[in-house]
Amino acid sequence: MNTAAVLSQPIVLPSLPFDQGALAPVISANTLSFHYGKHHKTYVDTLNKLIVGTEFADMPLEKIVKTTSQSADHSAIFNNAAQAWNHAFYWKSLKPKGGGEPPAALKRAMEASFGSLDACKKELSKAAVSQFGSGWAWLVQDGEKLKILKTPDARTPMADGPKPLLTIDVWEHAYYLDYQNRRVDYVNALIEKLANWEFAAQNFGQ
Ligand code: FE
Repeated sequence: MNTAAVLSQPIVLPSLPFDQGALAPVISANTLSFHYGKHHKTYVDTLNKLIVGTEFADMPLEKIVKTTSQSADHSAIFNNAAQAWNHAFYWKSLKPKGGGEPPAALKRAMEASFGSLDACKKELSKAAVSQFGSGWAWLVQDGEKLKILKTPDARTPMADGPKPLLTIDVWEHAYYLDYQNRRVDYVNALIEKLANWEFAAQNFGQ
């Protein structure tokens, strides 16, 4: 084994912040076993294979995503790194018995930017439902203002956009086993019952 291989720190699949059955019935243990155990794991494993012996081998995940975001030559590394990062962020965006009232400062910011908490949730839902094909919907902070974004495939505002506060995965693998084609039912149930507004508020506070 050469020195580089000894020193190299692989990107690690983070633990799920809840038990695989804890989000049911909104997201089943079956969906999570595939989504986390197969899809997320595969992004991490593939990324580790792609970066062996490259300038990215010892980089933190966030830096890999930012460095490769605009590089056509590194699209495979970007896609797997961004998906690894987005999924870790998505798990933290969810919690059992979530939804409800956001912490006061975040709620005030939502009201200031969207008119009401309900209007903010509706815009998040609309972005998630209307993203054509695979992608992500985001609550982001742009200066003083909160905004809703949607991104295709692996694209992430973390790389080159406003600061992400919360995300919803709208790839079919996130909901198809539980909801088939009814993405709108998955999205609205997630927002009302699983959204981790405390996590969004922590990001907002930084
Ligand atoms: Fe996913």
